[in-house]
Amino acid sequence: MVPRSIVREGTCRLLRYFITKKLSGDITRLQVAYDYLVKGMSPSDISRRYGVSKCSVSATVRKVIDTVGKEWIARWVVKTFYKRIMGVDPIIMVINRGRSSTYYCILCSREVTDPLTHVRTRHTDIVDRMLRAVIRGVNL
Ligand SMILES: [Zn+2]
Repeated sequence: MVPRSIVREGTCRLLRYFITKKLSGDITRLQVAYDYLVKGMSPSDISRRYGVSKCSVSATVRKVIDTVGKEWIARWVVKTFYKRIMGVDPIIMVINRGRSSTYYCILCSREVTDPLTHVRTRHTDIVDRMLRAVIRGVNL
């Protein structure tokens, strides 16, 4: 039996990870985790679907499971919160310029080089607010 507090702590840690990615405009990791843990798709099918390597699929799944400690908790979190996280609007806009892309933070009105670090360090308040919104109404 896993204590409830451990489940709650891991759940918040994993949600924070996905929310930070979503705010930065990256949804691939959440989709990979969903397809593997909830839909039961194989790493090679997932790899083809999103154009990422099989290694990267395995690394994402491992990271997600390690974050909460148990595969069943990871599956429950991804299944329960997938739609809610997908509903979070990114604050980073990706601007494609030919072969390269630049990132623009809507809140700071400026270009940023590393969107994930930017969201994680500059917009902790938004991450916290989104986390509260995402878990609202769910008995943790
Ligand atoms: Zn910003």
